[in-house]
Amino acid sequence: MLKHFLISFSLVFFSCATSFAQRTILHCGNLIDGKTDDIRSQVSVIIEGNKIVAIESGFTRGGSNDKVINLKQQTVMPGLMDMHVHIEHQNSPARQVESYTLNPADVAYNAQVYAERTLMAGFTTVRDLGGSGVNVALKKAINAGKVKGPRIYTAEKTIATTGGHGDPTNGGKIALLGDPGPKEGVINSEADARKAIRQRYKNGADVIKITATGGVLSVAKDGQGPQFKMDELKGIVETAEEYGFVTAAHAHGDEGMYRAVLAGINSIEHGTFMSQRTMDLMIEKGTYYVPTISAGKFVVEKAQIPGYFPAVVVPKALEVGPKIQGTFGEAYKRGVKIAFGTDAGVFPHGENGKEFMYMVEAGMAPMEAIKSATMTASQLLRIDDQYGSIEIGKVADIIAVEGNPLTDISNMTKVKFVMKGGVVYKD
Ligand SMILES: [Zn+2]
Repeated sequence: MLKHFLISFSLVFFSCATSFAQRTILHCGNLIDGKTDDIRSQVSVIIEGNKIVAIESGFTRGGSNDKVINLKQQTVMPGLMDMHVHIEHQNSPARQVESYTLNPADVAYNAQVYAERTLMAGFTTVRDLGGSGVNVALKKAINAGKVKGPRIYTAEKTIATTGGHGDPTNGGKIALLGDPGPKEGVINSEADARKAIRQRYKNGADVIKITATGGVLSVAKDGQGPQFKMDELKGIVETAEEYGFVTAAHAHGDEGMYRAVLAGINSIEHGTFMSQRTMDLMIEKGTYYVPTISAGKFVVEKAQIPGYFPAVVVPKALEVGPKIQGTFGEAYKRGVKIAFGTDAGVFPHGENGKEFMYMVEAGMAPMEAIKSATMTASQLLRIDDQYGSIEIGKVADIIAVEGNPLTDISNMTKVKFVMKGGVVYKD
């Protein structure tokens, strides 16, 4: 009996020892580590299991057991993070009808495809800012290794006010859709706010998203006005903090944005008509700005096509869309912290990388744009102890793009290699 035990123990021990001995060695032409402002050339990054275990100058020759990956023509950097996506959906002229025709199973199959496209575009982490609950199931399936996709931190359902941006029944038949409440993410008091946050906790959300002002794509007239009272915002932020949730506020108009920042929200999304007063308050409070320039560009383009959006959406798209890039440029120069986010799902998933080009076009240095999608984003999500940079001991979420993105930022859309948690997904 004892002998049998010793044999099986040594077998287990031996097989563990050999499997852990295999290392992956990346030969990097250039390396951006996400932490410093330097780009280093000819570096080796060594991965064991899911962790980065060494970073060495030159091209390290591995042992016979090691796997060497040649990225000598590429720039290697931490896995990218998009702080604003909607992984369940993708816009099209059929979008409004789809909210009445798609069952959760349909949404799930679509979402799986969008998640894989996002990962292949180099985004190893996303913050999903609102869907139907399929997002929570998708996150679990990805984490369990059943389907391919980025690490998802999801808001589950957004929290809105009655008739506000994110009320799921806007523009629908009242007799069919009823009057949603905090359980469905619609609130009208501080008590409702607490209930809505607790419901999101129960449903498996990781972060909280509110719609602090009107929005472009909701079937409602107003795209800018404030939609929450201070006591409601207080109920949201205080309760969210108790549950450890990072909070995000969609906002176009300045008043709703200012109130959300004052209440202590962690990030402002879109920020279209942000005043200097709000920018200064954000700097004072350490609030992040997630610009989503890509979404602005996309809605302006599609608003030109008759019938693409419901009629009530078109004037809002034409007013809001063109403003975001300029606001981003001003906020960046004034010193507001910028975290990368695109609103993918408003435009096709997998095209997230274009945002880097829009950011640089508006005056941001390429290295700063890359850091907004790596280190800064990981700080917003409070996961910078594990992710966001290529450092010894951190999780091996690593990508490589063609050439040098500091001299040509469009290379950020040419992702050649993706590793997540030490596993290669694209090579
Ligand atoms: Zn959004």
